[in-house]
Amino acid sequence: MFVLAWALFNAVAYHVPLYLFGIDHLDVASLGAGVTLLTLFILVVALTALFTGVIASIVPRLVKPLCMAMAVANAIALYFVVTYGVVLDETMMGNTFNTDPAEVAGLFHPWMLVYVFCLGIVPCWVLLQIKVTHTPFLKRLAMPIAVSVFTLCWAYGASQSWLWIDKHAKHLGGMVLPWSYVVNGGRYLAGNAAPYERRLLPAAHFVSNEKKVVFLVIGESARARNFSLYGYGRQTNPALSKAGATVFKKARSCATYTTASLECILAHQEPGARAMWEPLTSYLQRHGVEVTWRTNNAGEPAMDVRHFERLGDVKADCTEEACDHDEGLLRGIEARIAASNQQRILVVFHLEGSHGPAYNVRYPSRFNVFTPVCASVQLHQCSIDELINAYDNTIVYTDFVVGQAIDMLKRLQGYSTSLIYVSDHGESLGEFNLYLHGTPLSIAPDVQKDIPLILWDSSAAHSNANATSIVEGEFSHANVFHSVMGAFGMRSDIFEPELNLFSPENHQ
Ligand SMILES: [Zn+2]
Repeated sequence: MFVLAWALFNAVAYHVPLYLFGIDHLDVASLGAGVTLLTLFILVVALTALFTGVIASIVPRLVKPLCMAMAVANAIALYFVVTYGVVLDETMMGNTFNTDPAEVAGLFHPWMLVYVFCLGIVPCWVLLQIKVTHTPFLKRLAMPIAVSVFTLCWAYGASQSWLWIDKHAKHLGGMVLPWSYVVNGGRYLAGNAAPYERRLLPAAHFVSNEKKVVFLVIGESARARNFSLYGYGRQTNPALSKAGATVFKKARSCATYTTASLECILAHQEPGARAMWEPLTSYLQRHGVEVTWRTNNAGEPAMDVRHFERLGDVKADCTEEACDHDEGLLRGIEARIAASNQQRILVVFHLEGSHGPAYNVRYPSRFNVFTPVCASVQLHQCSIDELINAYDNTIVYTDFVVGQAIDMLKRLQGYSTSLIYVSDHGESLGEFNLYLHGTPLSIAPDVQKDIPLILWDSSAAHSNANATSIVEGEFSHANVFHSVMGAFGMRSDIFEPELNLFSPENHQ
């Protein structure tokens, strides 16, 4: 009885978003919709009752602590599902494991305590008050069996619901607590724990002997729609619009979350189920290019490069506000290159960019261009205008940082120089009631996939001065690897010249 009561409570207390999703996506007036919703409810109850029931049959003493742990974890998970509209699928759990403590602090909000208290602590207290009477083993076994039989009968009777449930399985599965985070977290870890070796790419040679510096700037959650260079009504690109850049109008990310996008950006071909090739940076370093990776972010794959530096390392004793933000990544690079005797240099800047939900803390205060801004991590508590103001300020700041990088390249003596700016993925700002990113790619809205892809090249800069060139046609993360190879005049069997953005013949 205790187990059944717990299963019912779990299904009622933590699954409101699941039913709301059902109500949103079903023709509610019809009888079938009611049956489907009821099926969902029964499935959730059965799943919990079965799991807890089996545990109860084997180790009765474990049941209470298990339920209490579930209550607290569910409360936290529910907070994220409700607040950010996230779906706790395998990739989202992967993101969770890759989140660093500073990001967690950024997500923290007093409302979370309310969830934990009401749906975590209070149920725990109630659980403690309940006296569970231990029944004989055979009797304990009866409940799970009865639940299974009932569920199977129901499922058979409600067969018309299956099509709908199957269609939305991925989405629904991500909202069923605690299974979403337990199962998908386990899946992610299992997939990740399996060690895989990165195979080396084929030997390469250089067809050019010019001294070359390439900057690759990887943005975070920057969506093309909010760039004035991509037609946005606000001036969010004051620097880049004067830099003489080339703008690739239609560019798509290959994923909607950072780690997967970084794999693509650094891969010579679409990564398979397990990325197995060495990343661009290791490939170049192995062929004598001096590679520096500077990050104010996380999620990069393991790589073998000359310098791997975090903002904290670069910042040293600098106490200025700017040193805590993306522009701090540029510190000392100019001097390092000037002092270097290397012929070929690649510097990657992995920006924090527009990392949500606390957009307002991603830029120094002098970039508070659009006001008032949303200062809460509870995005739906801000007006949509405040949210977009804060987000747009992050774009203006990114524009400034990329502009500074271009200015630095312009100042470099004796090198031919190129820069690529690309975002890892886009961002949802409340469209379809979605926030942030990480929606499964197959159902993700365009705003999470349409990314800015911008090039600057010292040789082109002479010919078109400060005017922006716009390139139509479709581009993606797949272009980055081959463009960097192309910029260095590097050739090998895997080089695909038609993906090199630096050759004008590819600008249809
Ligand atoms: Zn990202």
